[in-house]
Amino acid sequence: MESRYNPAAIEEKWQKTWAELGLDQTPTNSDKPKFYALSMFPYPSGSLHMGHVRNYVITDVIARFKRMQGYRVLHPMGWDAFGLPAENAAIDRGIPPAKWTYQNIAQMRQQLQRLGLSIDWSREVATCSPDYYKWTQWIFLQFLKAGLAYQKEAAVNWDPIDQTVLANEQVDNEGRSWRSGAKVERKLLRQWFLKITDYAEELLNDLDQLTGWPERVKLMQANWIGKSVGAYLEFPIVGMAEKIGVYTTRPDTVYGVTYIVLAPEHPLTRRVTTSEQQASVEAFIKEVSGQSELERTAEDKPKRGIPTGGKAINPFTGEEIPIWIADYVLYEYGTGAVMGVPAHDTRDFQFAQEKQLPIQVVIARTDATNQPIIQEAYTEPGIVINSAHFNGMASTDAKQALIQYAEKQGFGKARIQYRLRDWLISRQRYWGAPIPVIHCSNCGMVPVPDEALPVRLPEDVAFTGRGLSPLAQMDWVNVSCPTCGTPAKRETDTMDTFIDSSWYFLRYPDAKNEQQVFDSAKTNDWMPVDQYVGGIEHAILHLLYSRFFTKVLRDRGLLKTDEPFQRLLTQGMVQGTTYKNPVTGKYILPALVNPAQPQDPVTGEPLEVFYEKMSKSKYNGVDPQEVLAKYGADTARMFILFKAPPEKDLEWDAADVEGQFRFLNRVWRLVGDFNEQRVSVGGQTPTGEEKNLRRTIHTAIKLVTEDLEGEYQFNTAVSELMKLSNALADVKCKESPVYAEGIETLIQLMAPFAPHVADELWHSLGNSNSVHTQSWPKAEPAALVADEITLVIQIMGKTRGTIQVPAQADKQQQEQYARESEVAQRYIQGKEIKKVIVVSGKLVNFVVG
Ligand SMILES: [Zn+2]
Repeated sequence: MESRYNPAAIEEKWQKTWAELGLDQTPTNSDKPKFYALSMFPYPSGSLHMGHVRNYVITDVIARFKRMQGYRVLHPMGWDAFGLPAENAAIDRGIPPAKWTYQNIAQMRQQLQRLGLSIDWSREVATCSPDYYKWTQWIFLQFLKAGLAYQKEAAVNWDPIDQTVLANEQVDNEGRSWRSGAKVERKLLRQWFLKITDYAEELLNDLDQLTGWPERVKLMQANWIGKSVGAYLEFPIVGMAEKIGVYTTRPDTVYGVTYIVLAPEHPLTRRVTTSEQQASVEAFIKEVSGQSELERTAEDKPKRGIPTGGKAINPFTGEEIPIWIADYVLYEYGTGAVMGVPAHDTRDFQFAQEKQLPIQVVIARTDATNQPIIQEAYTEPGIVINSAHFNGMASTDAKQALIQYAEKQGFGKARIQYRLRDWLISRQRYWGAPIPVIHCSNCGMVPVPDEALPVRLPEDVAFTGRGLSPLAQMDWVNVSCPTCGTPAKRETDTMDTFIDSSWYFLRYPDAKNEQQVFDSAKTNDWMPVDQYVGGIEHAILHLLYSRFFTKVLRDRGLLKTDEPFQRLLTQGMVQGTTYKNPVTGKYILPALVNPAQPQDPVTGEPLEVFYEKMSKSKYNGVDPQEVLAKYGADTARMFILFKAPPEKDLEWDAADVEGQFRFLNRVWRLVGDFNEQRVSVGGQTPTGEEKNLRRTIHTAIKLVTEDLEGEYQFNTAVSELMKLSNALADVKCKESPVYAEGIETLIQLMAPFAPHVADELWHSLGNSNSVHTQSWPKAEPAALVADEITLVIQIMGKTRGTIQVPAQADKQQQEQYARESEVAQRYIQGKEIKKVIVVSGKLVNFVVG
């Protein structure tokens, strides 16, 4: 062991040794309890950022701790490797997507390995590899067999100049194409959907089972699913046989309906339009068709709409009401039509005021200040008025009564609706898993037979960024029909990359299986994931889709679990010091700023200084490679774990990184000194100091274990390690066997946090096994009990000293010891004790006169 701590000299050595010993391999023949520790796998952008580092270090500490606790641990890693950036690189730089992706993977794998993560690399998966996407395609066919995959027309972003479909990310805030700058249009294409709505109710209900998930994530999922209980009502159209169906959560306001609004794309729109209105309706439809859903539904925008001239009948009142069309009503959502109740809906109120539509109050405030003319929508419950025989009812009760009435009359019924819509999975792109379907003019849509999987992505593709998907422009599309043998065409859409990540955790338990998607026995053995760690940005879609896939594969007989992730930790962001000129709005490179007096290097204006999520555009990033080169992985790990609780944002602070490096140096010297003067001299009866030290050691074991098992408060666990290290440095009984126990325990407790230095120090003690194969220390209850406790003596609330008393002394005895103490005698001398306040085990306060 060198006298100075030099991470560069030990970290690579230990990483190599662990790999040779197979310490990170997943035990397959073991009757130990299982623990599946999983980080959300990264997109292989090519370089690791601090957010990645934080995510994987957190999972690694948990994995290492669980191994030492006697679990067989699965801790794998892979790559979410399909997606747009690879295709953009191909267009911009002419590098084939596969080549670009695999180069990035190789680079990032190396960066990950330098962190000393205990990952079982033999189970690595890459979603862009044919041996993975073969099974993605197979799973798609399972959905198809279950009736959960279907095609229908849906809008895409269409670039009229490049004649190509754009992803949402390729459309800027002004609705223009990233490449051509053209105003993007909406175009209807036949696309594939997965029927996630069939599972809406279960996806909502099972959130209750997820006791190990953050409440806010469950709430976000519940809101996304958006269950509402309301009514479906039908409004007859004047002069036509058809009716307009609407869904409402407020059937209690139906007597206040003064107009109906259709989505411009609604099939009835043109039919209800009168000849006088025809030209303006057509112009409006055309205008709206160029807008994105986001633009149309933005709350801060004026609501635009025009009358069709057509009329409907409110079936409750028998009155005729006008039919309008407006941009904020979407055909894909609900029935594509809404009833307008301006008196009791904020958006309707605004629309009615702008368009001079009548406002009819039908819910009165219970506080009797209600006026027939209102200044804003009244959206709270109240008493029903102006509603025929429902008048006088509480509006909350009236909902049910009105639905029953509508059912009896045959113009409506109760309905549960979800905000969740079916999942559009078609992408008109190259770098994704091809949808394994063939279109035949005789047979229609024919699934690719299982034995013909994978449908491989063709290589040697020319990327222009123009025209149809590259796949559609290649001879690859031409195949013979698997059923009738006549010439047919492949489906050219690829799958949304969220599909690839909806099942990857099921593949790790059996990652190399060439015959099956996975062996159910193996995957059921490891599932569910015991601890999942990843960013909050995946709180909705990725987690919801993974839960959906798990349930569908369970229903196909492949899985036993209802839910994929037992416990979820969403780690906070990593933020860097950010300098911004508030006048120009420009971010300034930290290298150009004097932190003591931050000024704009050009204008001299004072700068704003704050912490913000690290990003290239803000010049506030810290490159993990630089930190590793300077301090090593152990210091980087310790800093990340110590600086903030894992779920909170972490502010990068160079001084605190240095602080952790110094701490590891102190531990290094502590163990070095111990090794030099090592003589074990122990008396038969332990001294008071030895007893105290032993209590400190076992308290550290207890607290660090609790921090690693409970709420993952790694920051307080690191503090406990520091306390133990300080206590060992301060004691005099350095020749005692208790001291040796303390040194060994400190190293063992440090092992999950700073794995390299821990193993180096462990071996320096003369051990030949890795510290990572040791059992996690257990706190001995007897060692935790104190013989003596310290009481603070106060006179008139002022602390005057402390005394040691037997730990088992009760309140009265504590007072007695305090009265007799030398401190109390000195201060009370000659005065009368008027009152004694005892806080048991803590302090005794004398009130004297
Ligand atoms: Zn055919």
